[in-house]
Amino acid sequence: MQWELAGYNASMDIQPKPLTTQESPVEVVVIGGGPSGTTTATLIAQQGYRVALYEREKFPRFHIGESLIPETYHVLERLQMLPKLKKSHFVKKHSVQFVNQHGKLSEPFYFFDNKPHESSQTWQVLRSEFDQLMLNNARDHGVAVHEGAHVVEVLFEPDANGAGDRASGVQVKFENGSTRTVPARVVVDASGQSTLLMDRMKLRQWDPLLKKAALWTYWKGAYRDAGRDEGATMVLQTQDKAGWFWYIPLHDDVVSVGVVAGHDYLFKNRATKDHEAIYFEEVARCPGLQPRIANAERVAPFRILKEYSYRATQVAGNGWVLVGDAFGFLDPLYSSGVLLALKSGQLAADAIGAGLASGDTSAAALGTWQPEFVRGMERMRRLVCAYYEGFSFGRFVKAYPHLKGLVTDLLIGDLFKDEVDQVWEPMEQIRREMATE
Ligand SMILES: Cc1cc2nc3c(=O)[nH]c(=O)nc-3n(C[C@H](O)[C@H](O)[C@H](O)COP(=O)(O)OP(=O)(O)OC[C@H]3O[C@@H](n4cnc5c(N)ncnc54)[C@H](O)[C@@H]3O)c2cc1C
Repeated sequence: MQWELAGYNASMDIQPKPLTTQESPVEVVVIGGGPSGTTTATLIAQQGYRVALYEREKFPRFHIGESLIPETYHVLERLQMLPKLKKSHFVKKHSVQFVNQHGKLSEPFYFFDNKPHESSQTWQVLRSEFDQLMLNNARDHGVAVHEGAHVVEVLFEPDANGAGDRASGVQVKFENGSTRTVPARVVVDASGQSTLLMDRMKLRQWDPLLKKAALWTYWKGAYRDAGRDEGATMVLQTQDKAGWFWYIPLHDDVVSVGVVAGHDYLFKNRATKDHEAIYFEEVARCPGLQPRIANAERVAPFRILKEYSYRATQVAGNGWVLVGDAFGFLDPLYSSGVLLALKSGQLAADAIGAGLASGDTSAAALGTWQPEFVRGMERMRRLVCAYYEGFSFGRFVKAYPHLKGLVTDLLIGDLFKDEVDQVWEPMEQIRREMATE
């Protein structure tokens, strides 16, 4: 049986409003209708500006990135998405749990125990449906959404103040082959891993350490814990710490199960090129996973993605801004991608609103949020690298029980405060001890 991955659930409350502003001139153009694009567009429209969003696909469309983390709550609240999510059939997620290479479980990190607040319950989402909800929510806020509309070019013209070139709009190609030039005061690139502007302007810096790949599929009837553990994300290490599996319980009794490891290890330095064979070779190396899927039925094809981490050297230029994966992609170990998409979208929308109000849409005005955002992203990266260097959460919490709260803060995505920096030295200490054992 094939699970309908891009399935549209008609029972959900996602009735789009008619597009009334479709042909009106706009202040802001957003490229891409994923979480970063819809967040930016909605929050700018909430401030009273006219926004057009161009998405090359027709939704619902498949996308990976199914596990949300609690700090998404605050942006979702501003977007007025919470009632829609509460009404949805998405599985509720209360914790994350790590399983080591020998199959030994760590204590779960319960979000609510760390922060007794409604935000500590988040969701495991089918992205086709979540992204559809977000896109329709943007429409509800007055964004002129165009699907099947591929932005082929960002247009530039000389800045009136002599500050070099500035973005002045986009060129869009529609499904019927017609093209249109759309002028705008600000262009937001939210094109995800297509990284339209980053490539055009040669801003990409590859991460020298995080050169991973992923291989995944979906299982029906796989093992599920009970009670508040039912929707937990599990991170299960494979033997010799060569990689890890994600285990994300979704609705309809389906679990998303994928392996992440070095790209060359997974796909290049191996006798077989067959994805199914590689997947099961890795399952055989993951004692924690084998019994969980032993009696399950595979309900989707295998999918692969090269997922090298990268970041642009700047979030903004004259008249343009980068958000979400179009600014940077970080290894999915802690499910931080959608949070970073939402957070950058929110910070960008606030900077763009202020810039439009003051008449200053220079690189400096649109990029005010770069230092704060990059510091947060860097903290998540540090936690990712620690895991790949062999860091053990179980051991850390045993040695430093008073720091469990701050580690949980990082895991929930509370990355934008200096307090969490207290964990790095003790973490390094554990790493040194383990290196000498
Ligand atoms: C293997 C893997 C597992 C992951 N797991 C998780 C997870 O569990 N939790 C999590 O939070 N994150 C996860 N992520 C990360 C997450 O998928 C992304 O960070 C997130 O989707 C970024 O959102 P975005 O809006 O920036 O980009 P996207 O969601 O990719 O949206 C970009 C949109 O732009 C459109 N587009 C592209 N080019 C153009 C163009 N020229 N014109 C018009 N439209 C265009 C695309 O069609 C797309 O709809 C994972 C990523 C990978 C690779």
